[in-house]
Amino acid sequence: MAPLIDVYIGMGSNLHEPLLQIKEAIDELNAHPHFHNVKISKIYQSKPIGPQDQPDYINAAAYFQTFLGAHHVLDELQALEQQHGRLRKRHWGERTLDLDLLLYGNAQIQTPRLTVPHPFMLERSFVLFPLNDLANDIHIPPQHSLKTQIANMSFDLSPLDEEKNPR
Ligand code: ATP
Ligand code: MG
Ligand code: MG
Repeated sequence: MAPLIDVYIGMGSNLHEPLLQIKEAIDELNAHPHFHNVKISKIYQSKPIGPQDQPDYINAAAYFQTFLGAHHVLDELQALEQQHGRLRKRHWGERTLDLDLLLYGNAQIQTPRLTVPHPFMLERSFVLFPLNDLANDIHIPPQHSLKTQIANMSFDLSPLDEEKNPR
């Protein structure tokens, strides 16, 4: 039987009521038949990377366990992005929902469709600080620890007010 794998994903939105997009995506993760023990970070607001003439982002991270293979998880995440009317207008540009597969157990994967750990996660505060809400002992293959990685990173995102945060 396939093993149960710990998965971490990053979530982002900056179009069409971003907070609502993220909250709906959280509900969809919780309702997903193959995603078990779903946990969600706090929700944050962050400045865009890439083109600066786009709205701020709403970001969160999620943890779940699954028996699905990594590419199958990516299929499911991309299906959710499509449900949210995902349009890719330009590189690192605005989008209704971005779901990135950050970590899949301890796997290192490099295929045309999928790179795990997510290639830019180490340098992105809007990924690492939400991840740190979920667990602070996360190992990022091959040789990084979340703790060390955020120790020298400036906290340049804003947690949303309590009443807007679902936790
Ligand atoms: P970035 O990857 O820098 O965060 P992005 O999220 O805006 O940029 P997308 O347009 O969402 O990029 O994805 C582009 C392609 O990246 C997808 O078609 C997907 O196949 C590929 N991809 C590779 N590795 C991953 C991963 N770990 N998670 C999600 N998509 C990935
Ligand atoms: Mg992304
Ligand atoms: Mg993406």
